[in-house]
This record gives sequence, C-alpha cells and structure tokens, in this order.
Amino acid sequence: MKITNDPIQRVYTYLLEKAAKRAERFTATPPLRFRPSEIGGCKREIFYRLSGKKPRAVSGETQLLFMDGEVHHNVIRQLMREAGVTLGDLVFGPEGEIEETGGTLRVLTHTLGEKTYDVQLSGRSDGSVDVGEGAAAMPLLEIKTVGRFKFYEFERAYLKGGEKSVLKLLRDDVKKKAGAKPHPEHANRRIWYQFQATLLLVDQPYICVQFKNRDKCELGLLGEDGLRHSVLIAADPDVQQDVLARCAVVLRALETGVAPMAEFMDGSMSCKMCNFYQYCWGATKKEGA
Ligand code: SF4
Repeated sequence: MKITNDPIQRVYTYLLEKAAKRAERFTATPPLRFRPSEIGGCKREIFYRLSGKKPRAVSGETQLLFMDGEVHHNVIRQLMREAGVTLGDLVFGPEGEIEETGGTLRVLTHTLGEKTYDVQLSGRSDGSVDVGEGAAAMPLLEIKTVGRFKFYEFERAYLKGGEKSVLKLLRDDVKKKAGAKPHPEHANRRIWYQFQATLLLVDQPYICVQFKNRDKCELGLLGEDGLRHSVLIAADPDVQQDVLARCAVVLRALETGVAPMAEFMDGSMSCKMCNFYQYCWGATKKEGA
C-alpha cells in the first residue's frame, strides 16, 4: 500500500497558503511600536522590521512552533483555572478560547544625546495570577515555553540556589555577553529583557514566570523540596532603562537610515530564525554591502 494523498503534506500546503495570504497583507509602513519579545534580541532585526522590509516567507515548521507555543499557553491557563488558581486580565470563552485584556500600548520617552524619543511599547500580557499574600499578591503571569536544554539550565540553577540562582543566570548572561562584537547567542538576555519590557508595558512591579519544557512537558522548576515552582521576578529599573535605550537606538537608526550593529554571529540560531537575514549577512556576503 502506498499513501497517495499524504495528510501531513496537505497540512503543510495549507500552512504555506496561509503564510502567502498573510504576505499579501504585508504593509511597508508598520507602526513604530516595539514588542517586548524582540527587544533583547537584535536591534538590527527590529530596524529592518520597522523600516518596512519584507520578511522572508514563514516556513510550515516555524508556524507550527508558534502554534505549539499558543497551545501550551492556553492549556496551562485552562488547567490553572480548573485547579482553582485565581487569574486576572483574561476572559475565558465557552469554546476554550482565551482573550487577554492586559497591556496593549504604553508610550515612554528616552533621551539619546540631544534628542528625546517617544518609545511605544505594545503587546499583551499572559494575564495576572494570585500568588498569595503580600506586595506581589497578583503579579503578571508569564508562561515561558523553552526547549529542554534551556529548561534544564534553569532547573539546575533552581536546584542549586532557588529563585536567586535563576535570576543570576538571567542577569549574568547580559553582563557576560555585553560587548561590541556579534555574539553566538543571547537566549537569556532575550528572556530577561522580555520580562522587564512586559513589566514596563503594563506598569507592574512583579511577574510570575511558569517555565514550561516544550519537549518533555514539565511545568515549573523542580526544587530541592521535590516540588515544582514558579519564579517571581521584580522590575529592574536599570534593565528597563536599557530596554528604552535599545528602542531609542533603533528609532535614531530609522532617522539616519543606517542599520544598527548586527548583534549575532552568522550561523547563530537567531540569524537562522531571523526574518530579515537576506538583508543582513546575505547582503553583506553576496553583494558586499
Ligand atoms: S541576521 Fe542576525 S545579525 Fe542580522 S538582523 Fe538578523 S538576527 Fe540580527
């Protein structure tokens, strides 16, 4: 017997058709808004996006990765609700759909040299969650799905020294790798800045992170007590200033038309996943730009 109408191929064809339809709606004049998830990545990538450069077509595999993330987010929040956890800034629909009502848009300013830039942050939080008595009683909720290597890196840190070690891991990655040259990867900075930018967007002091192992489905970091834990993270005003500074650098680059420095090395995972690779390393190599 031979499969003559492979269902998986039909799925991929469908996904590629969907991506092509989205590409038709592409606009070359995007609003000058920054997303929390992109700020700790590569400033040059954001510059290309906000310049109105056409991104490369999204593959079926990448679309599946995004959908997978969405499914994890929704299942965890439904599960928390069933378990009696109090959640806020979320509206649960009758068909299992979830509407996020926290966040949207906040305009802040940052001065670079003589000029002050309006920085627009936009996005939505994953909701808010009750964690008990105290100042952080109802912090923002953040569900962070990561691959197993990253998950176990956080889990090892948690086993070693609890929440403090996880925070150190996130902060040290920023310090260790900060510099003038492109880096092989910056996964922890991306995560750390995403948390801080989200807190800034929603103007809240704490975010409660649920790490999820995308590959093996573990939820929460295992502690020495044998239990799994959330991680509570406080707003860090220094990093939040850097969030605004990075956005302002992009806004200045948009004015001058000169792209910011490439922040990752060619061949890094970030560059492989970058929607604008063809304008960056591709152009440098192939056209000598
Ligand atoms: S290809 Fe890499 S260095 Fe260039 S814009 Fe994209 S992420 Fe940045």
